[in-house]
Amino acid sequence: MINVDPLELEKFSQLAHRWWDPQAEFKPLHDLNPLRLDYIDGIVGLRGKAVLDVGCGGGILAESMAARGAHVTGTDLADKPLKVAQLHLLESGLEVDYRLISAEALAREMPGAFDAVTCMELLEHVPDPAATVQACADLVRPGGHVFFSTINRNLKAYLLAVIGAEYVLQLLPRGTHEYARFLKPSELAETCRRAGLDVAHITGMTYNALARTYALGRDVDVNYILHATRA
Ligand code: SAH
Repeated sequence: MINVDPLELEKFSQLAHRWWDPQAEFKPLHDLNPLRLDYIDGIVGLRGKAVLDVGCGGGILAESMAARGAHVTGTDLADKPLKVAQLHLLESGLEVDYRLISAEALAREMPGAFDAVTCMELLEHVPDPAATVQACADLVRPGGHVFFSTINRNLKAYLLAVIGAEYVLQLLPRGTHEYARFLKPSELAETCRRAGLDVAHITGMTYNALARTYALGRDVDVNYILHATRA
C-alpha cells in the first residue's frame, strides 16, 4: 500500500500550470521561500551538498537550493507538478533531478544518500505522516539534516490557516487544507524521535496579513518548521 491520497494529488495537479505565477495560488510558497531557503542554507551550507526535496511540487524550493549550489533531487507523486518543475529548468537554466517516486520507495533504493532532506508543506497532505518521516530519516546520512514544515492543530491554526487563508484572504483555494491532518509540534517531534531523529529546533513561520509579509520566529501556533538531525 502506497502512502498517498489521490484526491490530494489531483488538487495539486489541477493547479500545476500556475505553480510559477508568483501572484496565483502558490503565492504563499513564493513569498515564504526566501525565508525557508536562508534558514536551511544557514544550517546545511547548501553549496556542494546532496539534498533531497520530498513533495517538491513545481520546484520552488528545489530550484532555489540548486541555485545556491546544492545537488538537488526533487520527488513528488503528482505527475503534472513534476512536469512543470522539469520545464521550468529550461527557463532557469538550473539542474535538478526530478523523480516521480514515493519517499518510502526512494528510501529503499538510496538509504543514507543525502546530506539533507527537506519535506515542506507535505505532511498535512499524506495519510500516514509517520511513514513519510521515517522515510526521510532513512534517506539522510548519519549526521545529516532533515527539515519538515507543516501546520499546527489548534483553534488559532484552524481560524488562520483554513478560515483566514482560504475564505477571508483567499490566499489559498478552498479545500487546500484539512484540519484533521494538521500536526502539533509535540506530535511531529515524537514521530521524529521514533524515526531515529534528534529534534534540534522548531521555528515558527508567521504571516502578517496587513503588511503581507512572512517572518520566522518563536510563534509556532500556526505554521512551523522542525529541524532534526540523524544520530
Ligand atoms: N514542498 C513544496 C510543495 C508543497 S505542495 C513547497 O513547499 O514548495 C504539496 C506537494 O505535495 C504537492 O506537489 C503534492 O503533489 C505533493 N504530494 C501530496 N501527497 C504526496 C505524497 N504522498 N508523496 C509525495 N508528494 C505528495
